[in-house]
Amino acid sequence: MDVSYGEEYDAFRAEVQQFLREHWTDEDRRQNPPFKGHTWLVSSVARMDDDATRFRLKAIERGYLYRNVPKRYGGGEQPWDPLKEIIIAEEFQKAQAPTEVLGNGPNLLVPTLLERGSEEQKQRFIRNALLGTEYWCQGYSEPGAGSDLASLRTRGVLDGDHWVVNGQKIWTTLAHLSHWMFCLARTEPDAPKHKGISYLLIDMKTPGITVRPLVQINGESEFSEVFLEDVRVPATNIVGKRGEGWAVSMATLKHERAFMGGTLVGHRMLEGVISLAKSVNLRGRPASKDPVIRNRLAELEARLRAHVYNVYRLLTMGMRRQDPGVTGMVGKLYGSTLAYDVARLAMDIVSDRGVLWQESGPANGIAPYAYMAAFALLIGGGTANIQRNTIAERGLGLPRG
Ligand SMILES: Cc1cc2nc3c(=O)[nH]c(=O)nc-3n(C[C@H](O)[C@H](O)[C@H](O)COP(=O)(O)OP(=O)(O)OC[C@H]3O[C@@H](n4cnc5c(N)ncnc54)[C@H](O)[C@@H]3O)c2cc1C
Repeated sequence: MDVSYGEEYDAFRAEVQQFLREHWTDEDRRQNPPFKGHTWLVSSVARMDDDATRFRLKAIERGYLYRNVPKRYGGGEQPWDPLKEIIIAEEFQKAQAPTEVLGNGPNLLVPTLLERGSEEQKQRFIRNALLGTEYWCQGYSEPGAGSDLASLRTRGVLDGDHWVVNGQKIWTTLAHLSHWMFCLARTEPDAPKHKGISYLLIDMKTPGITVRPLVQINGESEFSEVFLEDVRVPATNIVGKRGEGWAVSMATLKHERAFMGGTLVGHRMLEGVISLAKSVNLRGRPASKDPVIRNRLAELEARLRAHVYNVYRLLTMGMRRQDPGVTGMVGKLYGSTLAYDVARLAMDIVSDRGVLWQESGPANGIAPYAYMAAFALLIGGGTANIQRNTIAERGLGLPRG
């Protein structure tokens, strides 16, 4: 098997490196550490300072970022070439340069609008979502509707040229910071449950919206309850047709799972745990010298590589226009369980000092923090159990449990 990239791609890599040397200097790198501590793990919004935005605009112009988004909506618009995408990701990561903004807007809403949105919606929303100048939250889950999302009860009633929305959402990540929410509401109460839902775009400043942050296990508040009381939403803010929101939401979830199943989190966490092992003593020597820890690090690295090669396989299948089938379904489950096991290793490295919080613990308490955050990855975007059901039933054709 030849896993080299070939001459054309080596030249492309050199071009990307040159671009980075010119536009993301050592000084930029020093002033802008790639991520602060460990908060990147639970925050879905990447660094958004002016330097990063200026750099991103140049990278978009060169076609290095948002390659699948047309230029007229603010993207880099390039022919699809997964190898080039991998090279860009590798080089940007090495140079610690800002990559594409992560979050509900660019990762979930934008692909959904590209697939299902009206021309006006694409023009209005995509550019700001890509640059992170407008944040989006995802209003799907409700107190009685999580894994069984289609049971949702938030209602939307058409009144002239507005939907009037009433109901409650929960676990809405970054609702307190978001400008907009893409939201599922039941608009056809008499239709079967999957058929009566619509996908609405709601301005979070609309009167009638109350956001109440929830306190998480780590003491932070990154998600909220959102109460909607007679919230008036322009009738044109519907994506897809009335009652077709389930299909639209599945488009978003597909992207969410791909995003959460990506290899970036695993790479960063593994780098983090290696540096932790070097800096923390275990049984009288740096944990990185401990044979048991080394063994577990090697095993996790092997799993990460398998994950990366599965992503390559997916890209190849995509290029050949083949249905990814079960290969596509394992990514989120594999990535989130890997992240959880990396975090468990971090806890074992700090051992009983893992109960110490923040600066009282080794490496500012990174291990317990990452461990708690890793649970989130096992639940958000559909739980690991639900993923296992999907793989078994839809991927492998096993009978329903
Ligand atoms: C960090 C984080 C961020 C989130 N952000 C958002 C957000 O921005 N927007 C949003 O809308 N939602 C968000 N969620 C909610 C998330 O989508 C739901 O928590 C998830 O879908 C599970 O739903 P639930 O919490 O109601 O649990 P339940 O559906 O009640 O599940 C409880 C347990 O039962 C298991 N279970 C349920 N049904 C089955 C079954 N059929 N077979 C086997 N096991 C089953 C589940 O695996 C789980 O272990 C977020 C969650 C987390 C953790």
